[in-house]
Amino acid sequence: MLQTRGYAARGPAEALAPFSFERREPGPRDVLIEIQYCGVCHSDIHQARDEWGGSIYPMVPGHEIVGRVARVGAEVTKFRAGDLAGVGCFVDSCRVCANCRDGEEQYCENHVASTYNGTEMDEKTPTYGGYSSQIVVDEDYTLKVAPDQPLAGVAPLLCAGITTYSPLRHFNVGPGQRVGVVGLGGLGHMGVKLAAAFGAEVTVFSTSPSKEQDARALGAHNFVVTRDPANFTPLAGRFDFVLDTVSAPHDPNPYLGLLRRDAVLVLVGLPEKPLEVAAFSLAANRRRLVGSSIGGIRETQEMLDFCAARNITSDVEVIPIRQINEAYERTVRNDVRYRFVIDMETL
Ligand code: NAP
Ligand code: ZN
Ligand code: ZN
Repeated sequence: MLQTRGYAARGPAEALAPFSFERREPGPRDVLIEIQYCGVCHSDIHQARDEWGGSIYPMVPGHEIVGRVARVGAEVTKFRAGDLAGVGCFVDSCRVCANCRDGEEQYCENHVASTYNGTEMDEKTPTYGGYSSQIVVDEDYTLKVAPDQPLAGVAPLLCAGITTYSPLRHFNVGPGQRVGVVGLGGLGHMGVKLAAAFGAEVTVFSTSPSKEQDARALGAHNFVVTRDPANFTPLAGRFDFVLDTVSAPHDPNPYLGLLRRDAVLVLVGLPEKPLEVAAFSLAANRRRLVGSSIGGIRETQEMLDFCAARNITSDVEVIPIRQINEAYERTVRNDVRYRFVIDMETL
């Protein structure tokens, strides 16, 4: 077994603290990655604090992982020692169900081995995430990372990047379309960069007036402060696509009201409480409300390659791991521009 150092939450009200644990020795198809950076996703906070229920402790969060391959198993063909590699929100799935075969492993009908707060395919061995020194992952669930990008900014692509890329692609967002992004946080700022890269006209809907300049620098064309309902009136029925990334309970009806006929509101934010949808918000204009969960391995690689070709990375604040609890507090207070990323050398 491989002795591994990390940081773990030991209960929903506990601060994260150093934790040592064992990972498996790399098997023939496994890649051993020395983790260099791990992003801090709001999902880490929801789960460390058991806001969604069912959390497994001790929990080593982290699913925005980049690092260098230290060792590969005998049958590995995709990676060699020294390569850069990434790991996102899951490390395995059944591989045989229709969704796995379609490359939508995140919707596996049998078992998805979440990168943390889950179990391996034996449905017993707990998984531990990227707030740690190293990780062992099957090569099929490991992503290739281009060598010439700032690595700390690549880490958040593994969750925030794919979670926004996937629905934008699925609904063919492109030139001539008016797109709204609700909430300018880790996901939101990637949604703005990607929607703008796809040629859409992007409007940010934010509770934070202080983010306007940043929003425009990220590629947004318009910025709407959501605290004032009057700001929505002239925009009713004018949007082709709205991406809601808000992490806390909120009223989705004003955003549904933005949609033109047959347009879509995609919920990617995962607040712990149900949202209240007025039937009239959907019936008018035959609007659609859908959700979306991360993305499959094939699409995640496509997103990484797209971002490498376009020089797109996340805007990050790199922190030493001893500041992780403060970073959680600041994220919850909306005080992050726009993703905390842990420098794992500080472990
Ligand atoms: P984040 O960085 O904290 O950003 C969330 C943003 O939501 C904030 O920056 C803020 O933007 C807005 N917001 C926060 N509280 C609000 C409130 N009470 N009312 C209205 N707006 C509020 O979080 P994140 O990492 O981007 O994650 C966002 C959500 O997506 C989380 O729930 C996370 O669990 C979920 N998520 C889902 C998936 C998926 O696959 N579906 C993947 C990753 C994460 P403004 O300051 O601009 O208002
Ligand atoms: Zn995430
Ligand atoms: Zn499956």
